[in-house]
Amino acid sequence: MKRVLVAARADADAFAAEFRVALPDHEIITNVPDDGLPVPYAVVGRPLPGLLAALPGLELVLSLNAGVEHLIASGEVPAGVPIVRMVDPGLVDGMVEWVAAQVLAWHRNLIAYRRKQDARAWEPAAEKLAHERIVTVLGAGALGGPVAAMLATIGFTVRAWSRTPRAVPGVATFAGRETLAEAVSGADVLVNLLPATADTVDLIDRALLDRLARGAFVVNGGRGTAIVDKDLIAALDDGQLSGAALDVFHTEPLPADDPYWLREDVLVSPHVAAPTHVSTAVGVMADSVRRWERSETPPNVVDLDRGY
Ligand code: NAP
Repeated sequence: MKRVLVAARADADAFAAEFRVALPDHEIITNVPDDGLPVPYAVVGRPLPGLLAALPGLELVLSLNAGVEHLIASGEVPAGVPIVRMVDPGLVDGMVEWVAAQVLAWHRNLIAYRRKQDARAWEPAAEKLAHERIVTVLGAGALGGPVAAMLATIGFTVRAWSRTPRAVPGVATFAGRETLAEAVSGADVLVNLLPATADTVDLIDRALLDRLARGAFVVNGGRGTAIVDKDLIAALDDGQLSGAALDVFHTEPLPADDPYWLREDVLVSPHVAAPTHVSTAVGVMADSVRRWERSETPPNVVDLDRGY
């Protein structure tokens, strides 16, 4: 029986139980064995240092996360062992819900009204229709594509930006760095769903924020590294931005003295936009194992040169 090591730091027992159902002809283990026998498959989130190197006969790393920059940067995945990143229906649904919630809350002034409620202030804001708002989504991949499509379905005027050309129903698409300025120009909402790579670090800086419409709203569900925090804060302070919803940060957990905590115009959430759910993720990972054993390349193998 081939072994699958489930080294999730949270919910390991629940993942293992589901794997035993999905792969009954495999041995599912949750601790690194000391018998020297091969462990071809490792299911990991953020593995403890040395864990992957300790696995004899490792063939495939199944990431519990969609973002794998930490795995690449750790240098601990043995050369030649592919990393399959997490893309599953639960993750997509989660991100679509979270971004839609943030964009609609801002669009319909819900947070502003909650603040006015404290002052018993009956002050209607100018309520716009969705099609009067331009939303630019950075990233048009497994998450950005469905997010952009859903925002378009709600009625927003949506643009999506990616590295290579992508088609998204109802969405104007842009590809390549040379189109970035056009993609974000005049946007009322900027949604970041880019992976953390050398090319996306500090992409959202003051120059980019200044291209947005005055009073724009920034939503970050991708990675904190994309944003130059001091530029975002300065843009909030001077009114170029009216608010931001941030789920991901340079340092997580967000340090207690981080200025984002105290801002009324920033919604901080603790990296929960699209968590990995046992119920939807295990079937996808089991399918990757099956494909691997049929000598097929599983979907969503990370391209180490691209960094995602
Ligand atoms: P994906 O399928 O790999 O899509 C990434 C998108 O970004 C693609 O459209 C890609 O372009 C584009 N891109 C990458 N580098 C670029 C560059 N230099 N210039 C322009 N576009 C670039 O990834 P995904 O599954 O959608 O996930 C995106 C990220 O979301 C993850 O990497 C992770 O960091 C984050 N995430 C966060 C949470 C959370 O709970 N907050 C949960 C899951 C994921 P191409 O289409 O041309 O390749």
